[in-house]
Amino acid sequence: MTPERYRRLKSVLDRRQPDLTVLMENVHKPHNLSAILRTADAVGIYEAHAVNPTGGVPTYQDTSGGSEKWVYLRVHPEIEEAAAHLKERGFTIYAANLSERAVDYRRVDYTRPAVVLLGAEKWGVSERAAALADADVIIPMMGMVQSLNVSVAAAVILFEAQRQRLEAGLYDHPRLDRETYRRTLFEWAYPREAAYYRARGLPYPQLDERGFIQR
Ligand code: SAM
Repeated sequence: MTPERYRRLKSVLDRRQPDLTVLMENVHKPHNLSAILRTADAVGIYEAHAVNPTGGVPTYQDTSGGSEKWVYLRVHPEIEEAAAHLKERGFTIYAANLSERAVDYRRVDYTRPAVVLLGAEKWGVSERAAALADADVIIPMMGMVQSLNVSVAAAVILFEAQRQRLEAGLYDHPRLDRETYRRTLFEWAYPREAAYYRARGLPYPQLDERGFIQR
């Protein structure tokens, strides 16, 4: 751990946004999922969510740029469980959905706790998921093709959220609670050691101001 590396990890963590996230509903192509995680990292998302009844959610390192190391991915078995989990935490769910009721994605306030729900490549957002969403948002399409690639749609909406949050000063100071910050910093700085402590049910040790483990 060099001092530069430690400073970099902290400066990224200082800008993580615990109240902005994505929920990917059966986005099954690994390159799409990986591209969305890469965007999530760039925008400062702390944890992303996916629904995949089959359990595994494969990603491609080439497409993700390694972002799965920096954005936690929570996989839910069903959309209802995912939505309940997020709503309990005070999130509003915005479905990126090409529906009649959808509003322009720029008309939404993403400075409040917000989830962007993205649908499957072929079928889009399911009826079950749409029923759980608080509102639908759409990226206006002026061409011949009806929809964007799901990872492109995610990027367009998430960078609007980033723009609004920058303007609101939400990247100016750390937003994670102290314990989450401390835990995540340890996991980012020392992934192997973190796995060791977790496997044994032990708390992570403290880091000193230079980022070294205090023995
Ligand atoms: N035929 C599908 C449909 O009708 O929804 C198209 C699915 S699209 C390839 C995959 C996902 O990308 C959609 O479920 C949505 O979440 C997102 N998406 C693509 N284009 C969009 C747009 N113009 N506005 C909002 N979301 C969009």
